[in-house]
Amino acid sequence: MRQIFLLVVFVLAARWLVKTMRAGQPQAPAAGRRGARSGPAHGTAGSAQREPPRLAEPMVRCAVCGVHAPQSDSVRSGAQYFCSAEHAQRYAARAGGREGR
Ligand SMILES: [Zn+2]
Repeated sequence: MRQIFLLVVFVLAARWLVKTMRAGQPQAPAAGRRGARSGPAHGTAGSAQREPPRLAEPMVRCAVCGVHAPQSDSVRSGAQYFCSAEHAQRYAARAGGREGR
């Protein structure tokens, strides 16, 4: 009876050990066996770091505060771009007052 108890404890310890080892290593040994040995860095891990194709978008400069923002996120008023509608209104009010002079 005591041997059976020891056997159960041993199996549980072995399971815990395997689980701990898998959790500690991000690259599981099972995944490495599945892939080919010749190409270790050829899997899907590299594609996860790919950036979204947003850099192709032109950057515009806010005429009030000078902050650069993507053209789709900026507010356009005439020939000027602004980071927000508030700055667009501020610039319009300021330009309108100066044009009088
Ligand atoms: Zn601004």
